[in-house]
Parts: sequence; C-alpha cells; structure tokens
Amino acid sequence: MFQIGKTIVSEDILDREFVCNLKACKGSCCVEGEAGAPVTLEETKILEKIIDKIKPYLRKEGIKALEKQGLYTTNPIGEFETTLVNDKECAYAIFDTDGIAKCAIEEAYNKGVINFKKPISCHLYPIRIQEYKTLTAVNYHAWPICDEACVLGKALKIPTYQFVKEALIRKFGETWYNELDVAAEEYFSIKNR
Ligand code: SF4
Repeated sequence: MFQIGKTIVSEDILDREFVCNLKACKGSCCVEGEAGAPVTLEETKILEKIIDKIKPYLRKEGIKALEKQGLYTTNPIGEFETTLVNDKECAYAIFDTDGIAKCAIEEAYNKGVINFKKPISCHLYPIRIQEYKTLTAVNYHAWPICDEACVLGKALKIPTYQFVKEALIRKFGETWYNELDVAAEEYFSIKNR
C-alpha cells in the first residue's frame, strides 16, 4: 500500500493487468453477484432527477423493478445499491443482440440525453473504493467472471489503473492521477531492477 493525498492505494491496481473482454464475459458484472452496484448518496439524488430521461432506454422488467423497489435499495448496513430484477441483473441493465449486458444510464449519456455516465462504482470496476473517516482506500477487487479481462490485460500489458484512468480522474481528479502515474513508474523501475 502507498499513500497519495488522503488515499491509500493498493499495489494490486498497478501489478494486475486488466482490460474488459465483453465478448468473453458478456458484461456479467451487471448480472452476477448477490447485490446491486454501490451507489453514493449524491448519486441517489442524481438518479431521482434523471430517471424520466433514462426510462426510454430501460427494459420493461427494469422499469417494473424500479417502480416496485425504488430507484436504489439499501443494504443491511445502510449502503445504497442499484435495484435488481428478481435478485439477478441490475434494473438499469439492457442487453444487445449478442446478449451482452450494457448500462441504460450510460446509453442515455452516450446519446447526450444526460450528463451522468453511470455510478462511479461501475465506472471504476475492478477498482473498489472504501471510504473511512479520514482516508479512502483504493483496492483491486478480484472476481472470477473477469478472468478473461486479466488474460486480455496481460496480453495488452495494460495495468488496471491505466484501464480505469477516466474513472479515477472522475473520482480523484487529474492531479491525483498524475501522482499515481509517477508513483507507478517509480514502483515498476524498482521492481524491475
Ligand atoms: S468488469 Fe468484468 S464482468 Fe464486467 S465487463 Fe469487465 S470483464 Fe466483464
């Protein structure tokens, strides 16, 4: 672990290589798992504001789940998560003709309908953020459904932190990312001595 400002960063996000391989995984992260994606308090308010604009992009099953359970759910420890359809896929998931899961929020964003891309937790994945009182932990999350992303990342030699550069800048800013990049260069030069 090393520190950048008020974040504690795991070396795993430098060491582990990762590039999503949608053909192999079919976007399973929107479908698998026991819970929805983490959503921040600020994002719950954004969802409330933009829901009418997202609706045309959602599946009817998704709309039904959102109407029944709400735009987000709250887990037993009080954290917000995206709503699920029948405890399975995310209510905001849509599927293309190849059966690959995509995000309806992102679809609306790509069409220029809204300016919110998707929850930051989805944007950052496989990096997970844990907020503590004074520090924020930045960790790599291993999930077997992403094994092919590790294979592709290794073939392309792209470390995880570079793969999610846009999301890291969205979360922590450009200056923080540049500091991380410098730290990574130093880390690799020492490691490869
Ligand atoms: S995060 Fe994992 S499951 Fe989701 S699209 Fe990437 S490789 Fe596939």
